[in-house]
Amino acid sequence: MGISKISVAVIGAGPAGFYAADSLLKKKLNCEIDIIDFLPTPYGLIRAGVAPDHQTTKKVIKSFEKTALNESCHFFGNVHIGNSISITELKNIYDVIIIATGADSDSQLNIQGSDLPGVIGSASFVGWYNAHPNFVNLKPNLKTKNVIIIGNGNVAIDIARVLVKNRKEMCESDIPEYALRDIENSSITDVFVFGRRGPIEAKFTNVELREMGELEDAVAIVDSNQLPLEVGLLDDKRDQRLKEKNLKTLQAFSNNKISDSSKRVHFPFWYKPKKILGNKKVEGIQMEKTFLNNGKLESTGEYLEIECGLVIPAIGYRSIPVKGLPFNSTDFVISNNNGRVEDGVYAVGWIKRGPSGVISTNRPDGVLVANYIENDFIEGGRKPGRKAFISILKEKGIKYVSFEGWKLIDNAEISAGVNGAPRKKFEKIDDMLDVVFYK
Ligand SMILES: Cc1cc2nc3c(=O)[nH]c(=O)nc-3n(C[C@H](O)[C@H](O)[C@H](O)COP(=O)(O)OP(=O)(O)OC[C@H]3O[C@@H](n4cnc5c(N)ncnc54)[C@H](O)[C@@H]3O)c2cc1C
Repeated sequence: MGISKISVAVIGAGPAGFYAADSLLKKKLNCEIDIIDFLPTPYGLIRAGVAPDHQTTKKVIKSFEKTALNESCHFFGNVHIGNSISITELKNIYDVIIIATGADSDSQLNIQGSDLPGVIGSASFVGWYNAHPNFVNLKPNLKTKNVIIIGNGNVAIDIARVLVKNRKEMCESDIPEYALRDIENSSITDVFVFGRRGPIEAKFTNVELREMGELEDAVAIVDSNQLPLEVGLLDDKRDQRLKEKNLKTLQAFSNNKISDSSKRVHFPFWYKPKKILGNKKVEGIQMEKTFLNNGKLESTGEYLEIECGLVIPAIGYRSIPVKGLPFNSTDFVISNNNGRVEDGVYAVGWIKRGPSGVISTNRPDGVLVANYIENDFIEGGRKPGRKAFISILKEKGIKYVSFEGWKLIDNAEISAGVNGAPRKKFEKIDDMLDVVFYK
């Protein structure tokens, strides 16, 4: 007789959850895997974070779809773990719980005025232009000439690019019409992407940075005085090559003139936000000049003020605790020992490591956890898993969306896409549920 089935619940249908499920399947353990998400739609930040005009990046979902369609896997969308169903309830019925809930809230700026209306963290703003149901009603103030973005990572670049691209440039994207219209009708002429440190320290990848030189209506502006002649010697050769490429790109940008285009994306380095100005809403920002002193960032006491109606801190994401599991509120991750949370509970992806890396960076987390499970459950599992989970869902009257249900939503979105758009996303959860339950 073979060993009994191991019942597995993966909480979060983003990349980390899918890589974990895929790693388990590859081991050919006798597993039944349920992937649960609070949205009716799978794929986490691939759908709601990756920029709408970066459709090629989103193609990775094809391989996740194969995982979801494996006969051992089921998807349960529209089920919020912690709210609708508790971790304790899950522990009673599953042998294994893999937490893959990501990091979907913003790191706080915490300076004077940072709670004024008009300061919108990148998680919310990106959610808005990606039609995440939690953010579709955000209504950011785009009736402003200047927009300030704080941070020197790819998220900052994504936001700047989306704000200055025109309708034609976005036609093959899945940006929702409300966002495209608001951006098109906005008064934005200048977007400032501020870095606390210099061009060598900036975390942009080169492909994303170079894209800022290919915009139809906007030009990238860099002050050549802020650019060193060389990168200098770095320990990591790969990093060295990236920084050299970035420096070359920025040097090319420094030849651009303000008058070259109707819109501009400025890259001022060595400034940190000091305070947000305004009484009832954002009216401007005060930045303070910085410098490095033996590797330590120091302030000069020299200030720069810019009038603006919108400030977007893109300074990193934070995980929120999963009710019923330990949380490390210093690092904003689930308390874990390299993926182990407690007996039978494991963590992968951003909730485990914090918000860094690209989609594929989450893959090794899944491989590691699959190895743990293989060793921890040599004798198989004991708990009923899916059957009991479905009973609880029924008892509580929770309408869950299966993978077939998601495919109905997916197909409806794809057929609604017009003028080259790959899809027209639903903006409300109720509309998605209508497609699934009242087709
Ligand atoms: C703005 C932005 C742009 C990015 N662009 C790129 C890019 O172009 N290329 C690239 O390679 N990487 C990109 N990344 C990084 C990439 O998106 C992440 O590495 C990856 O999504 C992290 O995976 P995750 O599964 O840990 O989290 P997520 O993708 O956030 O998935 C977590 C899932 O858990 C669900 N969830 C959360 N809480 C619960 C709960 N209590 N109950 C049930 N479900 C829950 C969420 O709905 C979500 O679906 C980007 C990230 C951001 C923020």
